[in-house]
Amino acid sequence: MSQRNLVLLGPPGAGKGTQADRLIKDFDLPYYATGNILREAIASESELGKQAKEIVERGDLVPDDLISAVIEARLDSDEADDGFLLDGFPRTIGQAEMLERALDERGRELTAALLIDAPDEEVVRRLSGRRTCVKNGHVYHVEFDPPKHEGVCDQDGSRLVQRDDDKPETIRNRLEVYHDQTEPLIDWYEQRSLLRRFDGTRTPEEVNSHIRATLATLALEDDV
Ligand SMILES: [Zn+2]
Repeated sequence: MSQRNLVLLGPPGAGKGTQADRLIKDFDLPYYATGNILREAIASESELGKQAKEIVERGDLVPDDLISAVIEARLDSDEADDGFLLDGFPRTIGQAEMLERALDERGRELTAALLIDAPDEEVVRRLSGRRTCVKNGHVYHVEFDPPKHEGVCDQDGSRLVQRDDDKPETIRNRLEVYHDQTEPLIDWYEQRSLLRRFDGTRTPEEVNSHIRATLATLALEDDV
């Protein structure tokens, strides 16, 4: 069977997390989100994990080559033989080149970079509508999943607030960073014919079936 070596790209709020959950279940792929694999490396107390721990405890950013080494260690374990889903790495062209080199050294190549896209206004609308209960963190959406009584949690009666992360100006700042960093990366994957775009404004089911159809086509092309 052909491998599914996948990278997931997209702005916050476009439904990347939902699609990741589906894909790792559909295809039984290991999921390498940057934060998760660093935490797992630290917990495993491996040599790389110890290095990462020191850096994280100092409050510094983990350098690209260390993140790449952690990913490579996972690629070398049996779990990734049929493929993997990377989320949050690569985020820059430099990181994409690192990944390309790492795969190349192992006689593998990326199957596709899946971009779940959504316009900025839609992202702001989705994320800024979120309200979180102060007591237990229950999440609502003023438009898509409103509480029975405005501003009050259905489950525990506590107050609903808009978290700082969900304020429109915060979201716009995150989007700006995303566009600056990731748009060149999107072009980079497009030039290599690896980019596949999906419309994140469609329902999660529609996006999922579109991704599955695309991966099935790629697997067929691979077998020819
Ligand atoms: Zn609540």
